[in-house]
Amino acid sequence: MPDVTKTDVSRLGLGAQISVLFAIGGLLVSILLGGATLLLTRGQLLDTRGSAAAAMAVSNATRLSNQLTPESSIEDLPTVVDSLTRIEGSQRIIRVGDDWLVAPELDRADLPAPLVERLGDRRPGQMLATVRGQPRFVVGIPLTAFDADYYTISDLSDVEQTLDDLRYVLLGTGAIAVTLAALLGSWASRRMLRPLRRVREAAEAIAGGRLDTRLGVQADPDLDRLSDSFNEMARALESRIQRDARFASDVSHELRSPLTTLMAGVGVLESRKEELSPRSMIALDLLVADLERFNRLVNDLLEISGFDAGVAAVDLTEVDIARFLEVTATNADVVDLRMPDDARGVLLQADKRRLARVMSNLLDNAGRYGGGASAIILEMDNTLRIIVEDDGAGIPAAERSAVFERFFRGSAGGRRTGDGGTGLGLNLVVEDLRLHGGRVWVEDRPDGRPGARFVLELPLPEVDA
Ligand code: ADP
Repeated sequence: MPDVTKTDVSRLGLGAQISVLFAIGGLLVSILLGGATLLLTRGQLLDTRGSAAAAMAVSNATRLSNQLTPESSIEDLPTVVDSLTRIEGSQRIIRVGDDWLVAPELDRADLPAPLVERLGDRRPGQMLATVRGQPRFVVGIPLTAFDADYYTISDLSDVEQTLDDLRYVLLGTGAIAVTLAALLGSWASRRMLRPLRRVREAAEAIAGGRLDTRLGVQADPDLDRLSDSFNEMARALESRIQRDARFASDVSHELRSPLTTLMAGVGVLESRKEELSPRSMIALDLLVADLERFNRLVNDLLEISGFDAGVAAVDLTEVDIARFLEVTATNADVVDLRMPDDARGVLLQADKRRLARVMSNLLDNAGRYGGGASAIILEMDNTLRIIVEDDGAGIPAAERSAVFERFFRGSAGGRRTGDGGTGLGLNLVVEDLRLHGGRVWVEDRPDGRPGARFVLELPLPEVDA
């Protein structure tokens, strides 16, 4: 069934998502605060400047009005104007009749048309406008006693400069705020995901066979419920696996006594084999072979149920590994035994019975499927590796992990029943090695010749410096 929860878009992990959310939150807050600060400051600055400019314009227009007479012409104005108050960066434009007195850098066309129109109706006005590319505040006051208007144009570029500076500061603090928010998010996510990591580690431990793994108290009511449910599930799983293992073990035990009786009965028959007819002899041979296989199967099942129930005990003793391999090779008629010189005298903490069973399983398999083991090799560096090679057909790459599963009969094993195999031998090797903290795998022979090469890896004892 396709996994509907996954999309093709590569997705961020939970931790990264939380960090991104915090960063987005930081960005939004920065934009909001920055925008509000800019708007308020701009309004405040323009208000102050606007009121100052308007107050000065009103006072100057009144003074101008007082000094003008109906006979005054545009020529008289410069003298009058010089006596008016001026603030830095402000210019004036004055209309008297059809004549205009304009500040040197300006033109009457620079006046915003709506304001001129307003003054045409003899109403004062003020507005923000861009004059010659600069932001300006323009105030216009009609001199009611005359056919004249008074305009002041104040430069606002210093206000814009202040706002620009403020923009840079806000941008900088915004960037810092976003970074801090992302860091906070990553810290918070790590904190929040810590309990999940514990659950994952516990689940991995259970999957790895440590069925008694439980989660501790989480110091949080919500998480406590999670760990309670998890522990409940782990307990149920453990008791179920133990029940299954006990069942397999009970069945195997129950089978043992009738099997012993059968074996004894067949033994009697075998001792009087010559009295049997040829057909009965063949039937007896088949019976003996199957009984032996059955007996091995029951013994292997008993061992495996011990592993499953977690009661398989290791009886660790010091094993002189070089000596052990020499004896093994001699018993199995393997002539080619290779080991480094410094392997002599190396003592391994191991369960000798289990180690012997591992070797005998591998050597039996080599005999059954590879025409006998061609070499036993010991290698030592950080770990210790015992290698069993044969000259058979080898194991196809596709079956190299499956051969270690229970009841797997590979293409070499075929579906034959007469080869004495139970399909449990390599699984017992895996379990025995796991008890020793080791592992096993199968690989190609390095010399490129066909054949299986089983590698057993065991940790070396720590050497005191
Ligand atoms: P069994 O030998 O009882 O079938 P094992 O677990 O020992 O069970 O082996 C599983 C399968 O792995 C065998 O059926 C066989 O196909 C394959 N196998 C094991 N050892 C070898 C080998 N040395 N060469 C080729 N195939 C092998």
